[in-house]
Amino acid sequence: MDWKKLSTRKIRSVYKCLFLNRCYLCHASSPHTLCHYCQKGLPNNNRHCCQCKRPTHSPNILCGQCQTSAPAYHTCIAPYRFEGIIKTLIHSIKFNQGNHYIRPLTDLLGEHVIASYNTGNWPDQIIYVPSHASRIKERGFCQTQKMAHLLVKKLQQQANIQCPTLPKNNPLKKSKNTQAQHTLSRKERLRNPQNSYYIDGAIAKHVALFDDIMTTGSTIESCTKQLLDAGAERVDIWLIARTPDKEQQG
Ligand SMILES: [Zn+2]
Ligand SMILES: [Zn+2]
Repeated sequence: MDWKKLSTRKIRSVYKCLFLNRCYLCHASSPHTLCHYCQKGLPNNNRHCCQCKRPTHSPNILCGQCQTSAPAYHTCIAPYRFEGIIKTLIHSIKFNQGNHYIRPLTDLLGEHVIASYNTGNWPDQIIYVPSHASRIKERGFCQTQKMAHLLVKKLQQQANIQCPTLPKNNPLKKSKNTQAQHTLSRKERLRNPQNSYYIDGAIAKHVALFDDIMTTGSTIESCTKQLLDAGAERVDIWLIARTPDKEQQG
């Protein structure tokens, strides 16, 4: 074979066939990052509070927490419940170096985000909730930063949308090393993250705030208030998953 005649395009297409056009979970042949069958097994967040997307038993109701105190953000996108395959994948990224699962998750979220803004009115800027420096050092990377980068790449592939910009330096910073959320009780979690974020950088009028999961909502609420204080007029929340309340889990 004359290797000089083999174009990069051909090499890329062979590589794609062999390694890329496969489901990230079961490795079955698939044009998408997850095959049809794996997508069907995802825990969709179909029944939820219409404001904060907390999983509920009935669809489109206003949960008790939102009735008592409406969240500061404008809207929330959370397509999955934090359970089943989604929980396994996110845990694997956080604790078992499963970085290759970031792409299928951000691809899925990207599709939901695109569908949610089908009438336009896209945010101007994407900001992510950062991990603390010591935890980034422990893991070797900040998973929300990686996810936000891949999410923007996914959105940029769509020619018909005005993709929000991802600032080079994320203007939302974490100031102190709060204890890892999963080690705390609900009561402690509600108390713990207050005032541990601050803004250092320019904030657009319409911001999308990205995090991988939302549990009590206290971190997102605190960050939203910081963004509003710093000049944002509207904050939309973009999440991969929302944690169901204890009685909803199973
Ligand atoms: Zn599959
Ligand atoms: Zn709610």
